[in-house]
Amino acid sequence: MRIYNVAIDGPAGAGKSTIAKKAAAALRFVYIDTGAMYRAMAIYFIEHGIDKNDEKSICEACKDIDIEIKYDAGNVQRVFLERVDVTDRLRTQEVGDMASAVSVYKDVRKKLVDLQRRLAESQNVIMDGRDIASVVLPNAEVKIYLTASTEIRAKRRYDELIEKGIECDLQVVMNEIEERDWRDMHREISPLVRVPEAILIDTSDMTIEEVTQKVIDLVKNEMAKDI
Ligand code: C5P
Repeated sequence: MRIYNVAIDGPAGAGKSTIAKKAAAALRFVYIDTGAMYRAMAIYFIEHGIDKNDEKSICEACKDIDIEIKYDAGNVQRVFLERVDVTDRLRTQEVGDMASAVSVYKDVRKKLVDLQRRLAESQNVIMDGRDIASVVLPNAEVKIYLTASTEIRAKRRYDELIEKGIECDLQVVMNEIEERDWRDMHREISPLVRVPEAILIDTSDMTIEEVTQKVIDLVKNEMAKDI
């Protein structure tokens, strides 16, 4: 049986994980959230008091960090760090900032890219991240670049935080998004790029359902070519 890999890249807050999760469920593909892996590594460095600028200690620690991906009964990805399920602790601002800071290091990326490739080898996957089409799965059958204006992405993130009961300021959220984008797009190794063959979807004026359907259609079209 042929294996299909779908790569979705894009900046923070473009809607990648929401869309990828829904499209994967509809297509019966496995959803792989690579940002969660960088976040799990970040938890390790925070817990061990390793400074984000201490490249030597970070690269040294990479050899020993045990990260595992499993799927629960509902097919939801769970991330295990040192055999402990840390999935519910990944999505804080502190962890996101640390993840973005340490994802610039070669050893961190190599460890996770190897794991990501292994996961995509034997099953149909939709994988989202920053370097999926460019580095992790350059032969993916479908490549998508999902984006939205900075204002819209900041507003989505702001609404998400407010809904969780977290006090915040829209301008501060926007500054943080801009800073994260800049770092992700300008780092030396595997920066966020749109590969020329990736299909661009600007989600600024689209509903979640519209974007999900577009992704599903793109994958189905690709699969139909093989029938
Ligand atoms: O997507 P998410 O916000 O969970 O990712 C957290 C951080 O991990 C990103 O800001 C980015 O720096 C890093 N990342 C990466 N490559 C990926 C996925 C995430 O560098 N494939």
